[in-house]
Amino acid sequence: MPTETVYGLAGLARSSAANRRIYEVKSRPSNNPLIVHVGSIDDAKNVASTWTDSADKLTAAFWPGPLTIVLPTDSELGTVAIRMPAHPVALRLLELVGEPIVAPSANVFTRLSPTRAEDVSSEISQKVFAILDGGPCEVGIESTIVDCRRSDAVAILRSGSISRADIEQFIPVVDSDADVRVPGQYKRHYAPKIPVRLVEVPTPEAHGLTILSATIKQIPMPREPSAYAARLYAALHQMEEMNPAEIEIETPPRTLEWAAVWDRLNRMVG
Ligand code: AMP
Ligand code: MG
Repeated sequence: MPTETVYGLAGLARSSAANRRIYEVKSRPSNNPLIVHVGSIDDAKNVASTWTDSADKLTAAFWPGPLTIVLPTDSELGTVAIRMPAHPVALRLLELVGEPIVAPSANVFTRLSPTRAEDVSSEISQKVFAILDGGPCEVGIESTIVDCRRSDAVAILRSGSISRADIEQFIPVVDSDADVRVPGQYKRHYAPKIPVRLVEVPTPEAHGLTILSATIKQIPMPREPSAYAARLYAALHQMEEMNPAEIEIETPPRTLEWAAVWDRLNRMVG
């Protein structure tokens, strides 16, 4: 299913058979939990066992949108990650299904997430019942994950297009006490099949993706961070299709507004 972040591999949240199948298709380790997608804030309150003031504030501010909240639950893991996606097809699907949907990124574990229906790899597409084509994802990188178990402050578990500064407008942000499992933080993740090298350029304004093959091919990248993020995975998929020996990424500026992009770039080189 399409979402505004990346395409998701969707199944009924309450179905253990569907959950098992998702792990199998993604080759995802079973200790890496799935995000539960809901169609409303009320549905989220039914998924979590406790609703906190921080969850209240952040969902009011950012839902539907690319923000995932982690809250306590009665399940064996003890926490659940929940998100209400801002995509008309995802929201309509949730409405028709009438119950929460788990939807991790529709990629094989550690690979690039698809941000266009045509970028869903054959390993995945051969094993699913259908692909809903909702067009290119507008955000293009995975959601910001926030630990909302405390009422008075939150911790960011994964960076995304909603930045620390955005969140601090509503609630203080503290460092994670790391007792919550976020295996999405593998050092090498979000990576193309082909080795990636980050290249510093004297004028970061001129950054792009380059492959050095017999015929040099360059994809110029947007200068604005959110436009860059929206384009990144699709550009890398395009590069992968040309099967070069290496992909060079000319690095963007090292400023806070590029934090989510930098997180993904660093994981690509592991
Ligand atoms: P993806 O679905 O590919 O965007 O990745 C899902 C991310 O959400 C992974 O990094 C998971 O570890 C994280 N996640 C899912 N459920 C939880 C949870 N209960 N507590 C902490 N992180 C979670
Ligand atoms: Mg993923």
